[in-house]
Amino acid sequence: MPNGEQERDMRRFAGSARFVFNKALAMQKARYEQGEKKLGYFEICKSLTEWRNDPEAVWLSEAPVHTLQQSLKDLERSYTNFFAKRADFPRFKKRGQSDSFRYPDPKQIKLDQGNNRIFLPKLGWLRYRNSRNVLGSVRNVTISRSNGKWFASIQTQRQVEQPQAIESAPIGIDMGVTQFVAFNDGSFVAPLNSFKKHQQRLAKYQRRMARKIKFSSNWKKAKARVQKIQSDIANARKDFLHKTSTAISKNHAVVCMEDLQVRNMSKSAKGTVEKPGKNVRQKSGLNRAILDQGWFEFRRQLDYKVQWAGGKLVLVPAHYTSQTCPSCNHVLADNRLIQAEFLCVECGYENNADTVGAMNILERGLRLIACQASGAVMPPATGTRRGDPRSATTKSQPDFAAWPGPLQATQSNNSLDLPQLWCSWEAARSSSFCKCRES
Ligand SMILES: [Zn+2]
Repeated sequence: MPNGEQERDMRRFAGSARFVFNKALAMQKARYEQGEKKLGYFEICKSLTEWRNDPEAVWLSEAPVHTLQQSLKDLERSYTNFFAKRADFPRFKKRGQSDSFRYPDPKQIKLDQGNNRIFLPKLGWLRYRNSRNVLGSVRNVTISRSNGKWFASIQTQRQVEQPQAIESAPIGIDMGVTQFVAFNDGSFVAPLNSFKKHQQRLAKYQRRMARKIKFSSNWKKAKARVQKIQSDIANARKDFLHKTSTAISKNHAVVCMEDLQVRNMSKSAKGTVEKPGKNVRQKSGLNRAILDQGWFEFRRQLDYKVQWAGGKLVLVPAHYTSQTCPSCNHVLADNRLIQAEFLCVECGYENNADTVGAMNILERGLRLIACQASGAVMPPATGTRRGDPRSATTKSQPDFAAWPGPLQATQSNNSLDLPQLWCSWEAARSSSFCKCRES
């Protein structure tokens, strides 16, 4: 809840942080094009000092220097993520897109929770509305602006006891478009599809905005409306993901899900001129649904929430999870005759296709745990299926059945007895499927 002067300053600081980020990125790009080495963080900090001393950029020297250095650190991290193939190449920041800056020095920050106020360098005391109590000691504060509102995110540090995992059945999760998640026990969580629901409303106001004269006051009003809808969508999605991931992590210590590849998903379905993609329409629709539903954010939330509860999130390769029969392990594309139902051509096992996917994911997850506990190397997936699906059974199907099975007496300092989990689950599985096999 900044006053007018504070808000103006925050806008300027965010602008300075963006300026420094973009200038440093442009510099690194230019060096790259000339075949020079990328500058390290400390070298580029020297350039920052020069920029701040430039008499024509006095405004830059008015922003807190620590926040500008943090901006350079952010750029460093973008590069690291890019080189580690976790993210795309760093992009230039635009005004109004994730405006933010970060104060890294806890000594300069004062938090007065009793009076709902926080002291930040060059801004002074700011009043705020509390979303939750701050536990532990403050490490840094990030100020950001979203949809015209300002937010302070406070990172803290504290000691917590190693949480004791709850006794619960391990669970497998299959992410999908018709159902947001399917569980191995046959239950589902329906998708929210907040974007789809609001899409028409959004399109209507976007059209209205397009008809107005740019930067006129009516255009600004229409734009605010569009941004409001966009932020409503984002908030509804956030709420949905948090509720779903919290419910799962509270009830299950071991959660298995497929290892989604962010880069593969967000890659254009169209492919390149030399290598045009197949099934472009379906794939781009799927990619959009995946990004719309926030699968990656969901995985991120599950990961930390399950850990907070003393459990473990296991990511498994997802090849053929929807085509493998959980009863006889027969793999064939024909196994999945229609989208919603799974029917094994070999043994006649029938179930919902998404449930079957979740069952297979659970099985692989538990196998993986058993492998890791024994120090065994997981057999690599030997490639993807091409052409005739029937060749998959002999050629490129990863041999999951060859993974080591149950293991006895493995020492683990984790409160979870992971190998034991596999043993009991495998035993239960054999007994539940023996009838199916006989028939
Ligand atoms: Zn079968």
